[in-house]
Amino acid sequence: MHYPTFNRELLDMTCRLANTLKKYGVQKGDRVAIYMPVTPLAVAAMLACARIGAIHTVVFAGFSAESLAGRIIDSGCKAVITYNQGVRGGRVVELKKTVDEAVKNCPSVKHVFVAQRTDSTVHMGNRDIPLEEEMAKEAPVCAPESMDSEDMLFMLYTSGSTGKPKGIVHTQAGYLLYAAVTHKHVFDYQQGDVFGCVADIGWITGHSYVVYGPLCNGGTSVLFESTPLYPDPGRYWETVQRLKINQFYGAPTAVRLLLKYGDKWVKKYDRSSLKTLGSVGEPINHEAWQWFYNVVGDSRCTLVDTWWQTETGGICIAPRPSEEGADIIPAMAMRPFFGIIPALMDENGRVIEGNDVSGALCIAQPWPGLARTIYGDHQRFIDTYFKLYPGYYFTGDGAYRSSEGYYQITGRMDDVINISGHRLGTAEIEDAMDEHPAVPETAVIGYPHEIKGEGAFAFIVLKEDTAHTERVKEELRSIVASKIAKYAVPDHVLVVKRLPKTRSGKIMRRVLKKIVADQSSDLGDVTTLDDPSIVAEILDAYQKYKTEQSASS
Ligand code: AMP
Repeated sequence: MHYPTFNRELLDMTCRLANTLKKYGVQKGDRVAIYMPVTPLAVAAMLACARIGAIHTVVFAGFSAESLAGRIIDSGCKAVITYNQGVRGGRVVELKKTVDEAVKNCPSVKHVFVAQRTDSTVHMGNRDIPLEEEMAKEAPVCAPESMDSEDMLFMLYTSGSTGKPKGIVHTQAGYLLYAAVTHKHVFDYQQGDVFGCVADIGWITGHSYVVYGPLCNGGTSVLFESTPLYPDPGRYWETVQRLKINQFYGAPTAVRLLLKYGDKWVKKYDRSSLKTLGSVGEPINHEAWQWFYNVVGDSRCTLVDTWWQTETGGICIAPRPSEEGADIIPAMAMRPFFGIIPALMDENGRVIEGNDVSGALCIAQPWPGLARTIYGDHQRFIDTYFKLYPGYYFTGDGAYRSSEGYYQITGRMDDVINISGHRLGTAEIEDAMDEHPAVPETAVIGYPHEIKGEGAFAFIVLKEDTAHTERVKEELRSIVASKIAKYAVPDHVLVVKRLPKTRSGKIMRRVLKKIVADQSSDLGDVTTLDDPSIVAEILDAYQKYKTEQSASS
């Protein structure tokens, strides 16, 4: 999208798609689900919605039919745009089949637009429209709808600490401005640069730094459809060499994975085009930071650890922009962006002053990229983000302010875990598993995982007469995959007799976390447990499980 001809191609595609949507009755304000992997047509689908004032909700194409249906129902989508199939890391993904299953229960959906990513033919029903065929009949010109600065641009679902994902709403002017200025200044994007953000458009990073930020700046944006290991662990760097990428923006989980394959896959390719490297989605550990900086960046590129969230629209804390040549401390997000005023709060809701302190990370004044509401539930928006610390936006993360006044993110403070940079409420996994008839209760916690950053560990209670424990565990795994997504499936499922609960019946996940982190000698205050003897019981089950695991590996 670097040269005018390419720009025209994208505009042409966007307008034809926009006219197709209009022809089938999609109007300003309607919601449209996009269930597509990263491709030029997926970008055009987002922009086509924006052009006619429809609101897109991109659903990551790895989510199950049930997750997709939940999002379509919650947002009342009138149309879905998808592909016949997807292609990922050499595998074919049956996208249309998943959509068919999802829309069975979605009466609001009038049409499903189906594009062709492969040559396979798929079943086409009454409401299915072959997208490219229809686009070919449409004019390549479509006047953009005029919109108010505060009209909705898109919504994107993200996990919270309860079971139901939230439709985070971003609006026109503020979001676009914030995506554009952060893209320009955090990465030092210059006209003519090739910006390579390898995120999927199913997440906010793909929205802000694959699509909207780079395109608002008239930039060239790389679309990465593959995986870091396909066909081999040199894929990213081969792409950098081939496209002469200047800014490379990726996730710590991929860096951790790739560093295991050694330096040779990196060094095989010319990376002299690189100027800035970026990391996003989860805390980056020192080893990963150093490898990214020294090996990938040849110790000469600027490496920015960028902290932000679906709700913040764009990057809020990052080492750049800053004075020229200012220090970058490894594995630290460091400096608030223009207009961002971070505040750390103590347990009593008071602002913590001074340096070398830790607390709940809040932001003290609004900024253009801040989400405006949760679709259909403004009260939940207020309750989640603005109630705990009145007058402040609460991020859900904890942070440390160093003696120099720089910020380091310490992780989530709620029951949200971050698997390979993807946010997931443990309650969502629990809700899915609780549907198994043999499983009355579950508790899911995050635990440190070498590659994924965090993984899910499930404690389950079985009904007394349950035989075939292994089969139940297998069934639970497939329930989670089909109700949420494969990445949400717990790595460990441990059967226990009871869960540790307070006298008021609340599961004390803190105790489970300590057990799994092998810190059972430091459980903290367990006097509020209904029956403290339960700790020894779970510890015993956990030790046995660990012994079995190491025997079988
Ligand atoms: P999402 O909205 O899915 O992008 O997830 C946002 C969450 O990811 C944040 O609340 C953090 O917990 C985590 N996160 C994102 N970027 C970083 C970062 N650079 N360092 C530490 N945690 C991060």
